[in-house]
Amino acid sequence: MIDEITKLKQEVERTRAELAILYEISNAMRTTLKLDEILYIILTGVTAHLGLGFNRAILFLVNEKENIIEGKMAIGPESAEDANRIWTQIEQERMGFDDLINAYKFSHHMVGSGFNQQIRRMKIPLIEQKGGLLALSVLDGMPLHLTKETLQNYRDDPLIQLLSTEEIVVVPLKAKDKVNGVILADNFITHKPITKDDMRMLIMLANQAGLAIENSQLYEKTVLRSHTDSLTELWNHGHFQYLLHTELEKARATNQPLSLIMLDIDDFKIYNDSLGHQSGDKILKELATLIKNQSRKMDYVCRYGGEEFTIILPQTDKKEALLIAERLRQDIEKHVSPHEEILPYKKLTVSMGVAVFPEDGNSSSELINSSDKALYQAKNKGKNCIFSF
Ligand code: GH3
Ligand code: MG
Ligand code: MG
Repeated sequence: MIDEITKLKQEVERTRAELAILYEISNAMRTTLKLDEILYIILTGVTAHLGLGFNRAILFLVNEKENIIEGKMAIGPESAEDANRIWTQIEQERMGFDDLINAYKFSHHMVGSGFNQQIRRMKIPLIEQKGGLLALSVLDGMPLHLTKETLQNYRDDPLIQLLSTEEIVVVPLKAKDKVNGVILADNFITHKPITKDDMRMLIMLANQAGLAIENSQLYEKTVLRSHTDSLTELWNHGHFQYLLHTELEKARATNQPLSLIMLDIDDFKIYNDSLGHQSGDKILKELATLIKNQSRKMDYVCRYGGEEFTIILPQTDKKEALLIAERLRQDIEKHVSPHEEILPYKKLTVSMGVAVFPEDGNSSSELINSSDKALYQAKNKGKNCIFSF
């Protein structure tokens, strides 16, 4: 009888502790909508000693558009020595769950490990035969607990080879009725067996995590849409202003130049008046794609307004900006646009004004003004050309 009561008491105590852990993790998840922060909180919850206490946790997300599963984040030591160092530090500094999370918000070093990089490069097809263990878990939507024996069935799976583990749990993340990711967790350093309780906790955490991830993805999509011009899919005017301001601050802080190109289509009114605004819209879309494709990855292509585009070129001086602008001018001139023969020079062309920080302006407003005036000069000089002061 006494034994029974003691057992019951222990069980109640354990359940209380488990609930407290889950409560703390889900509270932390509610403090942010940023996806990378959410993922970090989830994995910290899985690995922290005050959380679920696994040695290592890895998170993959489903990319529905490309029908793949992508590695997003991994937390855990890379070796026994590494584990010793990290765990001792956490213990010595008495880092609680909150401290671990804040450590990430202020510096992203914690997940800068080589292992994390390897995971982030992984793209696995979401097809039963080719996708191995992860695809199986996403398609089935069921948690898996693999031991030494059952892992044998997956010894050719590149992920299992990379992990070189003896026991692992694979738990799908669910948002409503869809699987949107997978968590893997193991104890590859301590070799502590994974218990039924560990599994149960991880499944409960995964259910919360799936919803938190979906919310954050919806939020990030909405933010992106509010920064995008719906016709051309370039950055819109508001976001252009923000980008120019931030890039200018970076340029100032690092003593680097920054160039701004203002681009306007030549005689576009004639095009619209003859062929209608819908044909004009098609040209705007086509040109936006062309400019985006011909730009460098580091540049920001924006729709300033009507038929005016801006390109922000970080770390670019006037000489280089003029070369880039000239190449773009030629690309547009060569590009065959529908019905361009109705234009005065039988070709769709553009004019550009270029302004450079610091010589042409010190603030974003001065740079916009200078590139605008330069554009005006280019138009005055006969269009289809580039001007800068
Ligand atoms: P310029 O060579 O001097 O630039 O001559 P322009 O006719 O292009 O003159 P301006 O730059 O003032 O052109 C503005 C015209 O661009 C007016 C309008 O017909 C067209 N336009 C502006 N925004 C849009 C848009 O969103 N869709 C369409 N279809 N046309 C637009
Ligand atoms: Mg214009
Ligand atoms: Mg124009």
